Amino acid sequence: MTNNNTLTQTKERGILIVLSGPSGVGKGTVCSALRGRTEDLIYSVSATTRTPREGEREGVNYFYRSKEQFLSMIEKDELLEWAEYVGNYYGTPKEFVVKTLDEGKDIILEIDVQGALTVKQKFPEGVFLFLLPPSFDELESRIIGRGTESEDVIADRMKAARYEMELVKHYDYAIVNDQVDLACGRIQAILTAEHCKRERFMPAIQKWLEEVY
Ligand code: ADP
Ligand code: 5GP
Repeated sequence: MTNNNTLTQTKERGILIVLSGPSGVGKGTVCSALRGRTEDLIYSVSATTRTPREGEREGVNYFYRSKEQFLSMIEKDELLEWAEYVGNYYGTPKEFVVKTLDEGKDIILEIDVQGALTVKQKFPEGVFLFLLPPSFDELESRIIGRGTESEDVIADRMKAARYEMELVKHYDYAIVNDQVDLACGRIQAILTAEHCKRERFMPAIQKWLEEVY
């Protein structure tokens, strides 16, 4: 009745994590901090038609595309999901996500609520995280403080925030971004817990049982 197989091979498929939240809540900041802390988490780089902000880089923050190029990606079915957000298009390149999950690696998509709902239909087993500001006033201060948008765009993004917050009910976890370090710690704790889900171990345990008896 001996069986020396280990459970290390149970991670056959990676976990798909979706992070949403209103503009200015700190999604980009938290994702960058996570990238520095967790080597095992792959970041999905989206395509967008918006112009790069100062300091943003092609292929790191986004793939910056013209509207024509973006529409062609939609037509060729190259996007897992896409959405129009405050006058620009944003979308997730499909092939990279599927390949990463197939390789057993976890991937995080930082996308808006419309895109998240589309992903939820395609990947109901995904883990859906919503980043919340400590208060609405703090959200406005952050978006103004970032200094990257005009007053008009800030007003549109605050309006979008009101609508986005209502969709928090579709998410599995709510994470308050009071401090970046604390928010990252919460996300890492959730990932650890998701990796310990009993269902992930069932195929290997089943195999054990078959081999033992
Ligand atoms: P998003 O990607 O959600 O639009 P950003 O990551 O660009 O938001 O953050 C918006 C602004 O808020 C930035 O100036 C960033 O430095 C600041 N910020 C992010 N997280 C925090 C935090 N926990 N406390 C204070 N300021 C923050
Ligand atoms: P920003 O212009 O501030 O970088 O992003 C604006 C909004 O678009 C944010 O809510 C961000 O999460 C979202 N977003 C970024 N990439 C994608 C994407 O690939 N798909 C969707 N649906 N939304 C995205």
